[in-house]
Amino acid sequence: MNSNQILSYDREHVWHPYASMRNPSAVYEVTGARGVRISLEGYGEVIEGMSSWWAVAYGYNNPAINAAIEGQMRKFSHVMFGGLTHEPAVRLAKRLVDMTPSRLQKVFFCDSGSVSVEVAMKMALQYWRARGVSNKNKFATIRGGYHGDTWNAMSVCDPVNGMHTIFSGALAVHYFADRPKCKFGQPFDASDFDSMGDILERFGSEIAAVILEPVVQGAGGMYFYHPDYLRMLRSACDKHGILLIFDEIATGFGRAGMTFACQYAQVEPDIMCLGKALTGGYMSFAATLASDAVADTISDGGVGLFMHGPTFMANPLACAAANAALDCFESFDVPARTRRIGEILADKLGPLAGLPTVADVRALGAIGVVEMKEPVDCALVQRLLLKHGLWLRPFGRLIYTMPEFVISDEDLLCLCSAMVAAVEEISK
Ligand code: PMP
Repeated sequence: MNSNQILSYDREHVWHPYASMRNPSAVYEVTGARGVRISLEGYGEVIEGMSSWWAVAYGYNNPAINAAIEGQMRKFSHVMFGGLTHEPAVRLAKRLVDMTPSRLQKVFFCDSGSVSVEVAMKMALQYWRARGVSNKNKFATIRGGYHGDTWNAMSVCDPVNGMHTIFSGALAVHYFADRPKCKFGQPFDASDFDSMGDILERFGSEIAAVILEPVVQGAGGMYFYHPDYLRMLRSACDKHGILLIFDEIATGFGRAGMTFACQYAQVEPDIMCLGKALTGGYMSFAATLASDAVADTISDGGVGLFMHGPTFMANPLACAAANAALDCFESFDVPARTRRIGEILADKLGPLAGLPTVADVRALGAIGVVEMKEPVDCALVQRLLLKHGLWLRPFGRLIYTMPEFVISDEDLLCLCSAMVAAVEEISK
């Protein structure tokens, strides 16, 4: 197929994320990818500033991850995990247990971030059922969150920006506290916790768990809130007998300037979801980690089994990729590097805050956000950025970047110049 044929068949038959089949927006054909660059048909090599939705942390076509997958493929690509096990899975489990907060001791491998959220929510429900508590069937979260597109994950996404309106009546209804107002790096005011505190106080007996993204809310608005909120949340959950689930799918493995964002608050969850950069963005894979207390309770009471077991659970190729990605993580000080990337992003994008069209500019770790006052024309901004050699996918009022952790200072400066130029052009 030539490029025209690919694009025209794509337009007629292939659904893209959050897209119309009647009037699909432009897509670009990728013909190769290496390091922090992708090759786009008709545009040549451009810097890919999204890490493919937070995932490709160590660059495209990474030789070490390629070699690990190839090596595993020659041994075996897949075996069922029911009644069988393998070294790549066990080694990966050990590494995850060792690096995550010490409370998390048990690992459940699954297919994608959304599925790991489903698994976490099922764990919380089974935990209470195993304890003979039948009325804890609800979850609480904060507004502005995003946890995936599967059924239960969707039910705890932001009710306004998420898909609650479309699916209302069919989705489970949970409790939504106000989004924390105190921002990262600014003073904390304990009244920020009032809305959540009130929900937990009044409805705690119905709530199985609180689920949220620690410190960084990603797809729900690229918003950074104060870590002290999480300290108050941990103690309120303990007080009211509620489990705490952290979704670190986007923030995990150094993205926000700490290995895990919850380390800013020094707070440990009972259950944690990991995905995206887990395999260095090579394939769909995720893990849900649980405390001994959660795992033992599920195993000792009720049916005594955790009722989930996907076909591709602990896929050996994905485990091999993840082990190689962790080797990459350990090969340099990732959190120090992402904090430095954040300083450069803040420094170079910061002046845009002076434009009358710009509402806010913020950066934390390898996440840089230019929040406009009005919604942006995504297709137009993409065309402008491509002219300057950069690929991004803006949404809503946000033009943002989450570069690969391995980006050089030189490429990062090019990325920033392209963003600045595009924002200035749409601000004229
Ligand atoms: N949780 C968070 C915080 C995410 O950012 C995402 C994906 N953007 C998900 C869950 C869902 O992950 P996946 O797309 O792999 O299902």
